[in-house]
Amino acid sequence: MRHVAIVGSGPAGYYTAETLQKADDIAVDVIDRLPVPYGLIRTGVAPDHQSIKAVSRRYEGTALTDNVRFVGHVSVGTDVTIDELVGLYDAVILATGAPNDRPLDIPGADLPGVIGSAAFVGWYNGHPDFADLNPPLDAPGVVVIGNGNVALDVARILAKTPGEFAGSDIVAHARDALAQSAVRHIQILGRRGPHQIAMTPKELGELGHLERASPRVDPADLPPEGDDAMLEPGMRKSVTHLRSFTANPVAKPVTIDFDFFAMPIAIEGDGRVQRVIVERTTLDADLTSHGTGETYALDAGLVISCIGYQTPPIPGVPYEHGRGRFASDEGRILPGLYAVGWARRGPSGTIGTNKPDGARIGEMVLEDIGRGAGKAGRPGLDALLASRDVTPVTFRDWRRIEEAEVAAALDGRPREKFTSIEAMLTALGR
Ligand code: NAP
Repeated sequence: MRHVAIVGSGPAGYYTAETLQKADDIAVDVIDRLPVPYGLIRTGVAPDHQSIKAVSRRYEGTALTDNVRFVGHVSVGTDVTIDELVGLYDAVILATGAPNDRPLDIPGADLPGVIGSAAFVGWYNGHPDFADLNPPLDAPGVVVIGNGNVALDVARILAKTPGEFAGSDIVAHARDALAQSAVRHIQILGRRGPHQIAMTPKELGELGHLERASPRVDPADLPPEGDDAMLEPGMRKSVTHLRSFTANPVAKPVTIDFDFFAMPIAIEGDGRVQRVIVERTTLDADLTSHGTGETYALDAGLVISCIGYQTPPIPGVPYEHGRGRFASDEGRILPGLYAVGWARRGPSGTIGTNKPDGARIGEMVLEDIGRGAGKAGRPGLDALLASRDVTPVTFRDWRRIEEAEVAAALDGRPREKFTSIEAMLTALGR
């Protein structure tokens, strides 16, 4: 028997498990710190993007195969160490994603009201770590930093009416807070221009159909239309959306302004954020930006930095600090230790990008471990956890948590998520 542990039950973890479970004589344990599986699908993908979240049914298919086991509510680093896992399993695959925000390294970034996207997204998606975030929504201005899809998710969620969350699984505390929100002006800051955005067309297009919010682009920021011809088709479509936003009058009560060539250089306020100091930028020949010296201030009671994520380092595991991911040779970190998904590649690509990644790492691991080295595997982990009084949450337990969440849902919503680990365990009678 071959024994493999995957740390992290998000898309990268389950796509890897999907490949591994097809092999003979294999036992795959998918370990997660939370009592609930699916990582970013549950707590990262926007709650109004239910069609993307539906991919969890595919992971459920993998989780229910005989060779795969979910080991929830077990914290690697606290309940069991990486070294112990490497001792117990033929291969340990880190699929821990990139849950930490890249730091916004400017003066004032530590003021109350400056929030990273991991925290804000986690808050509206019911991640137990961020349930108490309570973001200040009491001022009209919000500055969203970054020109990626997370910035779009954040701006859209801030702009939607309660009615537009119908059919979503946004958690009650976020739905209620957003319904009372005083936010009227959302400024999305991009340090480069419309041709350098990291936004995809579908997500940009959605902004054009919001009930009470209009996206706006200053036509002066757009390059001549003929220049769009050199863009790859997806990017061209995105820029076409931006061009359509130049025509928007201020007819709706909420505005979403794209502020291009705009780099935040400081955040100021008396005890909390009140304004962002922005410097105009221009692009060098290599398309990097540099400041022009011209500055201006934007009023804001909330700043959400959406500038990318990092994988938290694990003591003893080689790490690439510049890239914010584990150091690996195409996924091999150390003998018996691997990385997959964002923990391997860094935080880029869609959920689907993890499918070929998971398949490749799964096949690599199968090749490396051969028939296995007779390690203790599952029974060994179970004995270790029992000796530490740690009771994992099983997949069957998760199904009970899910049933309770579905039963609690009102108004045709798919579920009312539990937002604390205690509530999840209480649903199991623990
Ligand atoms: P991202 O796509 O890497 O975008 C990060 C943005 O932050 C870039 O515009 C970048 O600008 C900017 N930035 C970085 N450092 C900055 C700084 N110091 N000051 C100002 N701006 C800075 O990251 P993301 O939006 O977090 O998304 C992560 C991944 O998840 C992406 O692959 C994304 O497509 C994916 N995602 C997909 C969906 C979806 O498909 N619906 C939804 C959410 C996320 P530069 O280009 O100038 O560096």
